[in-house]
Amino acid sequence: MQFCKCGGLLVAEGNKFVCRTCGKEGDKVDVKITSKASQKETVVIENNKPDLPVMKRQCKKCENDQAYYWLIQTRSADEPPTQFFRCTVCKHTWREYK
Ligand SMILES: [Zn+2]
Ligand SMILES: [Zn+2]
Repeated sequence: MQFCKCGGLLVAEGNKFVCRTCGKEGDKVDVKITSKASQKETVVIENNKPDLPVMKRQCKKCENDQAYYWLIQTRSADEPPTQFFRCTVCKHTWREYK
């Protein structure tokens, strides 16, 4: 459908358009309908839940005995990696040398 600038409906007459409301010819205005709403991208960052395995380890700061753990090769490759622990409750982080 085509609409006049006045808002009236344009009716095709031959190869022209005539407004039903104001009677003017032509000046058709395309009415764009935006159907797609802008999609919101929600990025959820969960700092409190690191994607790390959990092992039974006594936290030194609280009574919790569950800790995330990961290994980091700190020095040269022939030295054993350092085991890091982070308490699942109080987030206390410590390391232990193997
Ligand atoms: Zn009109
Ligand atoms: Zn703790």
